[in-house]
Amino acid sequence: EREKEIARIKADFPIFKSADFFYLDNAATTQKPYTVLEAMKNYYETENANPLRGLYELSLKATEAYEKARVSVQNFLNAKSAEEIIFVRNATEGLNLVAQSYGRAFLKEGDEILITIMEHHSNLIPWQQIAKEKGAKLTFLEPNEEGLISLESFKKALNDKVKIVAMAEVSNVLGNRQDIETFVKLTHENNAIFVCDGAQSVPHRKVDVQAMDVDFLAFSGHKVYGPMGIGAVYGKKELLEKMPPFLFGGEMIEYVTKEDATWAELPHKFEAGTVNVGGAVGLEAAIQYIEKLGFSFIEEREKELSEYLMAGMKEIPHVHILGSEKGKNHHGIMTFTIDGVHPHDIAEIMDSHKVCIRAGHHCAQPLMKFMGTPSTSRVSLGLYNTKEDVDAFLAALKTIRGAMGYGE
Ligand code: PMP
Repeated sequence: EREKEIARIKADFPIFKSADFFYLDNAATTQKPYTVLEAMKNYYETENANPLRGLYELSLKATEAYEKARVSVQNFLNAKSAEEIIFVRNATEGLNLVAQSYGRAFLKEGDEILITIMEHHSNLIPWQQIAKEKGAKLTFLEPNEEGLISLESFKKALNDKVKIVAMAEVSNVLGNRQDIETFVKLTHENNAIFVCDGAQSVPHRKVDVQAMDVDFLAFSGHKVYGPMGIGAVYGKKELLEKMPPFLFGGEMIEYVTKEDATWAELPHKFEAGTVNVGGAVGLEAAIQYIEKLGFSFIEEREKELSEYLMAGMKEIPHVHILGSEKGKNHHGIMTFTIDGVHPHDIAEIMDSHKVCIRAGHHCAQPLMKFMGTPSTSRVSLGLYNTKEDVDAFLAALKTIRGAMGYGE
């Protein structure tokens, strides 16, 4: 019965209409439902104009569509106000905005930025660069064998020099959810701010920025069944207000002279240049799609399928799941190795079986080094994946050692 329900969900996604492939690379990007594509088409066919500046009706319509999408993101993340939602291109740009604006304005020489060895490069390099510029120090937490940052190690790493803690809620390699609420509380007691990379959590669970009390949270639209080129960064209003702009140009100003300028109100202060209205409209439709299914359904479904997938992988000799094997709270992301087989060979053999998975360093090279492997393979689930997808993956997985010339 459940599988029939999922098959109906799959039918909402045009790419699967005549699919001869099994898509299991959802942590990289997700497929888009008809409703997202239609919302974008409708916007471009009936409402497109340059928003925020035109005084004619069409431009006002485009402005309204854009600001309505912002309110949808606000409600999706449960932010207090729409001004706290800044549209960006993706999670990477959101994290750069925080590092470049907040970091440059408030970090001082000798300050510490605490991150984890598990971070995606997009939550590492922006901090590396601003630390270098400001003479601040980057310090790293390491996960235990379950892929989790322990409370003890977190407490040990905090000291009064730590001004920023930046961490992914869910690692794109190990898939476990960190105990963000506890870490945020400790961070605030330490008079520091907490920056959350929500790229791999927002697609899988109800992220509530007020309940989590994070100071910033970034995510990408393309990983939540929306289009590429749009994402958002949430920031607490009192912090955003005291931060300088990140990019300069049109739309983000209040008044300009030859020598200087003053800044527009939030959120426009952080949205320089012509914005991506079509993308925002698509993201809004994606949020509506997710909310119609509901996160309680999505979480339950993804947990059930993850368990099925993990149990199947554990039965195959020479397959090793990294981190999340022992983790209770993973989000459909399984990273693995096979004895004696290079991950690129795994992905290629998978491809010959029409199974799409990821191989490589997953933009997390320091984590790969920490785990002692230059690269791994990763299979990741989305809300439309079926047991049939997982079975195709498992069947292909069983052939790999043989295909590489190993006898069992
Ligand atoms: N953080 C994490 C944990 C991710 O998985 C990703 C995407 N792989 C990003 C950040 C960056 O997302 P984007 O490339 O969409 O900016």
